[in-house]
Amino acid sequence: MGSGEVKISGWVNSLRIVGAVAFLEVMDGGSLQLYTVVIKRHEHPELWNLATHMKIGSAVTVKGSIPSGQISKRGLEVRAYALNLLSEPIDFMPLDPSGKTPALLDTILEHRYVALRIPRQRALFAIRALVVEAVRNYFKSLGFLEVHTPKICGAGAEGGATLFQLDYFGRVAYLAQSPQLYKQMLMCGFSRIYEISPYFRAEPFSTVRHLNESWGIDAEMAFIEGPQDVMRVLEDLIVHVFEYLKAKGQREFSELGINLQVPRKPFKRVTYNEALEILRSRGYNIEWGQDLGSDEERVLGESMVEEGYDAYFITEYPWHAKPFYIMRKKEESESFDLDYRGMELASGGQREHRYDKLVENLRDKGLSIENFEFYLKAFKYGMPPHGGFGLGLDRLVMTLTGVQNIREVVLFPRDRQRLLP
Ligand code: ATP
Ligand code: MG
Repeated sequence: MGSGEVKISGWVNSLRIVGAVAFLEVMDGGSLQLYTVVIKRHEHPELWNLATHMKIGSAVTVKGSIPSGQISKRGLEVRAYALNLLSEPIDFMPLDPSGKTPALLDTILEHRYVALRIPRQRALFAIRALVVEAVRNYFKSLGFLEVHTPKICGAGAEGGATLFQLDYFGRVAYLAQSPQLYKQMLMCGFSRIYEISPYFRAEPFSTVRHLNESWGIDAEMAFIEGPQDVMRVLEDLIVHVFEYLKAKGQREFSELGINLQVPRKPFKRVTYNEALEILRSRGYNIEWGQDLGSDEERVLGESMVEEGYDAYFITEYPWHAKPFYIMRKKEESESFDLDYRGMELASGGQREHRYDKLVENLRDKGLSIENFEFYLKAFKYGMPPHGGFGLGLDRLVMTLTGVQNIREVVLFPRDRQRLLP
């Protein structure tokens, strides 16, 4: 094929006939490029016949030439000289693949594979893949090693009712709710690691930001001086992801109609106590020690946005509101949450690395020392001070794409109702 020639392998999204000219909108499955294939009756009578009887949703190949090379929103124009029908739908299409007639979220989730032909839907998942790419090259540049820890576990990170239980050759096992314990144990041998992996949580959620299977970006780093070292790595990661996406995701963001705003560094840092003050001044009274609910998160987010901050850290939570592995600082803790416009994106902090203190922390939370023996052992052999964070990948993609429901950016979401497809 010479220059200005193209071979498209993809699906027919729509057909329009204007007089003696047929316009087929075809989405190429490989390049994700949208084409408008033009066929004139008097030039190619056989192609015209095939094209004008084409069912929406058919899989085809097209060969043709590109006259002007102009890319428009509705795709590159192609003058076809060959058209092949490979596979015809045998049922009505469950949704309009051109996206002109919007589909309900439930319909999209039920027929995700077809929905991927809608340009907006493809853009969401192309962005998701770019985010993972950005995360990997960021960590690599800082010397973090990518690791993989087990997802079938003999003990949970925080214990309790939030774990999915399964039968493991007659023993009780759980699906991992986070890589927390393993990534900390690794600090005995590696000093900078990260993992991108699924979290399984058994709570009966019914919100737009929780799933029972979600993906997390976890990092852990040793030889730190305090939680601020970890916060800087997380802040730089977020900014890097935004910048990378702004540079590499232009086509996708223009499909979504979004002009990405890279958050300004340094992110605002407010202590838990300051957050309570801000909330009080807006009529929300929270008892000291309580976690912030979604209403409080939203109101705090509004106040931060008014100050010019989309992304902000909430630091020094009460120790009783945080898990046992967080380092205690009297009644408070060396912890932080990262929120973006009122939604939690990440939690992290400095961990307790001193064996005796860690045992004390477990006791304080009423957890069994015996169950955590395998984990505690790793703290007997020169465990350095360390800290890290867990960042929700799905929530990060929601933030970038501005979608309101986490299910939109997950191919086959798992929630209380949805187990199939
Ligand atoms: P939240 O308070 O929003 O329920 P969490 O504090 O229970 O979250 P963490 O244990 O801190 O969650 O997990 C780290 C990150 O993983 C969260 O900040 C969030 O971005 C993401 N995450 C946690 N649970 C879920 C979930 N069920 N669905 C989607 N993302 C989640
Ligand atoms: Mg959290």
